[in-house]
Amino acid sequence: MKPNIQDLSFKELSGFLTEHDHPSYRVKQIWQWLFQKRATTFDEMTNLSRQLRELLKEYFVIGRLQILRRAESHDGTSKFLFGLADGESIESVLIPEPNRLTLCISTQAGCAFGCAFCATALLGLKRNLTSDEIVNQVLEVSRTLTDERRITHVVLMGMGEPLANYDQMFRALQIITDSEWGIGISPRRLTLSTVGLVPQIEKLMAETKVNLAVSLHAPNDELRGQLMPVNRKYPLAQLIDCCRSLPIARRKRITFEYVLLHGVNDSEQHARDLAKLLRGIPCKVNVIPFNPHPGTEFLRPTNEAISNFQDVLHDAGVQINVRRPRGDDIQAACGQLQGEEIRARRGKRQAEATGS
Ligand code: SAH
Repeated sequence: MKPNIQDLSFKELSGFLTEHDHPSYRVKQIWQWLFQKRATTFDEMTNLSRQLRELLKEYFVIGRLQILRRAESHDGTSKFLFGLADGESIESVLIPEPNRLTLCISTQAGCAFGCAFCATALLGLKRNLTSDEIVNQVLEVSRTLTDERRITHVVLMGMGEPLANYDQMFRALQIITDSEWGIGISPRRLTLSTVGLVPQIEKLMAETKVNLAVSLHAPNDELRGQLMPVNRKYPLAQLIDCCRSLPIARRKRITFEYVLLHGVNDSEQHARDLAKLLRGIPCKVNVIPFNPHPGTEFLRPTNEAISNFQDVLHDAGVQINVRRPRGDDIQAACGQLQGEEIRARRGKRQAEATGS
């Protein structure tokens, strides 16, 4: 198997080029073909000599992801299920909104963090994605779009915990954000969502300019510990302290995500406790009404609970935004299409085994 050229660092690729008597400035030209022009063959790279194209062809391949399924929602949301070379699969969700086109991408196949309400958690962690598998979600989805429809925003909110795959995620961010040779989406248009890994949050905020979203989901340790096992490692006091002390210029406004679960964390008291917890932090709260999926006992909150929760936070001076459910007819919440695919495969295997 030839290696994927997208995986090579600057040093590796320029080393390869000099070894074969080609100047190292070709690296940037090759990267422009791979990441800006989304080339799928070396023959397309017409500003490289024929000899260099043949050399690259001899040694490398250009990595692709296979679109296993694509589901379109009536609201315009599209969900892609991608197959990886080793048979694992991951999801990306394309969300059109007025004036922006957001792609939600995955950073791991499955997830190890076991949040009680999450569909991906049911899969467990399969493995970390490589940086090219993260970047190729953006490239493959872009290839399905016309030139007038470009992805303007990227959110790392798909399957997996981005900060648990820091190095590959970081390399992917460099490729996605570089404007000289990369995809060229500004870091200000990128948001990374985390369960709250404190040391990695500090590292990310020191090393990048991306926006930070922290999954909170409860205003006290007891409840958060039940919903998110990671809370035992990084309890609320430590997480909130970390958010409070992030470098001001880089911090902008932190987003706190709060999935509303019926009868679990959606009372007015929870909202009051949340407002108190966040007092003094420049932040906004993204309230996400739970998106039910097969295999969960949690329920969607009532409209009344959503609006009461919103009112309490609003009255306490917290900036709050209720995320409209998108693509709920295509199971667009994290991990859901994958779950369907597994059930379908299992069904097929059972049918084959019984000869029916
Ligand atoms: N691991 C990261 C990013 C992936 S999930 C994190 O946890 O932040 C992105 C967001 O979707 C998280 O806030 C997560 O808690 C939330 N989420 C997961 N399953 C959901 C569901 N069924 N309905 C609504 N939100 C969900």
